[in-house]
Amino acid sequence: MKLDHFQQLDENDPLAAHRQLFYLPEGRIYLDGNSLGALPHDVRQRVEGLVRQEWGQDLISSWNQHDWIALPRRVGEKIAPLIGAAPGQVICADSISVNLFKLLATALELSPGRRVILSESGNFPTDLYVGEGLAGLMGPERCELRHVPGESISEALDGDVAVLMLTHVNFRDGSMHDIRELTRAAHECGALVLWDLAHSAGAMPVELDACDVDMAVGCGYKYLNGGPGAPAFLYLASRHQEQAAQPLSGWMGHQRPFEFENSYEAASGIDRYLSGTPGILGMAALDTALDVFEGVSTRDLRRKSITLTQAFIDAVLEQDLPGIQLLTPQNPDRRGSHVSLAHPHGFSIAQALIERGIIVDFRAPDIVRFGFAPLYNRFIDAGLACQALSEIIHTKAYRDDRYSKRSRVT
Ligand SMILES: *Cc1c(COP(=O)(O)O)cnc(C)c1O
Repeated sequence: MKLDHFQQLDENDPLAAHRQLFYLPEGRIYLDGNSLGALPHDVRQRVEGLVRQEWGQDLISSWNQHDWIALPRRVGEKIAPLIGAAPGQVICADSISVNLFKLLATALELSPGRRVILSESGNFPTDLYVGEGLAGLMGPERCELRHVPGESISEALDGDVAVLMLTHVNFRDGSMHDIRELTRAAHECGALVLWDLAHSAGAMPVELDACDVDMAVGCGYKYLNGGPGAPAFLYLASRHQEQAAQPLSGWMGHQRPFEFENSYEAASGIDRYLSGTPGILGMAALDTALDVFEGVSTRDLRRKSITLTQAFIDAVLEQDLPGIQLLTPQNPDRRGSHVSLAHPHGFSIAQALIERGIIVDFRAPDIVRFGFAPLYNRFIDAGLACQALSEIIHTKAYRDDRYSKRSRVT
């Protein structure tokens, strides 16, 4: 397999210099930024400084002195331009799972007479599980979770649907929904929409305000590079904020948390979506990680992401590898930033790639995912990954027993 073509693409890549902002381990090709983003150099310094000075020396005074208390809002406002949100609508808090619970409850409250959360079968499990949990808590008269295959969503939108909850880019096959079109369809039937941007934020433009989206959640540790278990974010359009309550009414979302009153009064605006004390170490890491997006347009990210995934897809198809099936759409308008290949020995193939320094992941039952983070992945990464894959398939190296051992996390 020839690699000159990939080297040429790297030479012409306007985002190539951004790779230097990241720590990337020698001798490995990291293609799992869609699961855990790489470490930006500045994050190390920020966390070390925070631990030594702000926590170690300044202790409790740091809530004011270093403005820890405003971190959820500040980080939210840094994320906002990446997802097309005007100020005052995004806050950094908790995990996606917890934020889904808060927003789904809000959506049901904002939709009297409607009780269905409509989603897609095969959506990311936590989205469905949280919907199920909320339905169990509210009871069948007030809430039901329904999920249908992706192609039946429009038909399933009826007068019972309170909220359409979808993930923009599918974690399994990398396919992408049209936010504008589906938001319009939901609104036409009188439903709200909630988009999960876990595999979108930081890899492509999202236009939440322009598409008239009601609610969204997203992930801090994937393409935003906030570190393992980084806090997530949530978006609620300004027009809903003053009517909306959320059930996890903790003290950080109170209008006057330091008055320590006996009863809850929601803070005005997006602040009411805070619940408990934010994890400052994790949030500060995400805060600094977001600086790598300074001066980068989401359009440029998208352009590179499309060319990277296309270069990989073309190379894989050209190799015509027995047993390999491309699950990700070949139409760039229909795919996100990772490429999924299915093979009956997918698990062992993923392990064989990892042993060769190509870090990918596996999703049951048979999918190998290759994530392309446009800020730090190179075209040569795509070429070398394809070369290694080709060698593993042609030599049937995946048959070796040592590749079949499963750990708790895949
Ligand atoms: C990664 C991911 C999540 C993660 O949810 P957490 O509660 O933050 O662990 C949720 N939804 C989707 C679509 C994801 O890809």
